[in-house]
Amino acid sequence: MHKTIVIGGVIGAYGAKFLAENNEVTLIEEHKNENQPVHCAGLISKSGFERLKINPDKFILNKVRGAKFFSQNTSFEIRTNDTKAYVINRKMFDNELLNSAIDSGVRFINERAIDIQVSENFIVETKSSEFRAKNLVMATGANYKLHRKLNLDVPKFLNALQYEIFAECESDMVELHLTKDFFAWIIPVMDYARVGIAGYGNVKEKLDNFIKNLKQHRKVGEILARQAGLIPIYTPKFKTEYKFSDLNLRLAGDAAAQVKATTGGGVVMGCLAARHLADKNYENGWRMEIGNELYLHLMFRKFLNRKSIKYDDMLMLANKHKHIFYSADMDIASKLLKNLTAEFVRHPLMITDIFKILF
Ligand SMILES: Cc1cc2nc3c(=O)[nH]c(=O)nc-3n(C[C@H](O)[C@H](O)[C@H](O)COP(=O)(O)OP(=O)(O)OC[C@H]3O[C@@H](n4cnc5c(N)ncnc54)[C@H](O)[C@@H]3O)c2cc1C
Repeated sequence: MHKTIVIGGVIGAYGAKFLAENNEVTLIEEHKNENQPVHCAGLISKSGFERLKINPDKFILNKVRGAKFFSQNTSFEIRTNDTKAYVINRKMFDNELLNSAIDSGVRFINERAIDIQVSENFIVETKSSEFRAKNLVMATGANYKLHRKLNLDVPKFLNALQYEIFAECESDMVELHLTKDFFAWIIPVMDYARVGIAGYGNVKEKLDNFIKNLKQHRKVGEILARQAGLIPIYTPKFKTEYKFSDLNLRLAGDAAAQVKATTGGGVVMGCLAARHLADKNYENGWRMEIGNELYLHLMFRKFLNRKSIKYDDMLMLANKHKHIFYSADMDIASKLLKNLTAEFVRHPLMITDIFKILF
């Protein structure tokens, strides 16, 4: 059996379980349970859980059946009768995947990997020990300290900030308020909501302004918790597999920027990619499964950002072609592309930019 060290959290734990089928796996993760900082809105598609073959029942906090999009002066909504996504408790979710990895034979080390040496083996140093293996997986999230130490590429990223706060909103609809570079979100949880924003620059100022505006027409209460983080931007050529003579290093999850550029969601895509960690050719394996989808998300994001001054017109157009969006899948962008009608694509608002971005 080959020895493999995995450093990281939820994506690392999910991948470690697959690796453990043929490897002796050590998972090094500095956080566990209560001390785990959450930097996630916890919105995961129902279809995503099905794809990952994970039963979400234990960690569901709320169910949502649609989304409302807001621009400066108008809005557009997709409201269905079915549950489309779950709002989950990330700590419980992460813990479940960790326990599942441990049950599959993965050795868990609850420590920080302080340093990595590359010699005959990877030597991963923690405060109390050293671990050696020829295979290393870094699923270290959007913390690129170890990338820099090993001279690996680092993706570009957006800043994100989220408050858990009492905010008046529909209990089963998420809200996306389009901004110049991304969007602000309101995700109903139980008797509170996760209200956040991602973008470039000072997101605290942006979020505080967003909430100030919200307060003008809705009841908004006190902030219960603050969560900040980075959202890596998917880059098609970002290298996720490195060779150091006979040593093999693989990156997964946010560490590999396997994140949907439309929404910043990385849990489903990261897990789908991590299933390929045990493949002979990892880079090829995960790209075959989700590379095109991540690329399309990136193209949609570029398209939206180009249109930021025309969001009102875009949402009005979307309202006229609502049927296109009803069977869309939060993760599989190609489904939306397939649904686009000639009439929609040929609209003057769409046609020039679609071609500029795709070709
Ligand atoms: C504000 C915000 C909201 C988001 N909302 C959503 C959402 O609603 N839905 C969604 O799908 N995605 C969302 N995301 C993205 C999602 O959180 C990430 O894509 C996902 O957590 C990636 O998982 P990961 O395992 O790669 O990284 P992480 O979840 O960050 O886990 C990495 C773990 O590795 C540990 N680690 C790092 N370095 C070391 C080290 N040297 N030694 C030991 N341990 C180490 C870290 O402490 C961490 O626990 C959001 C992100 C942000 C910032």
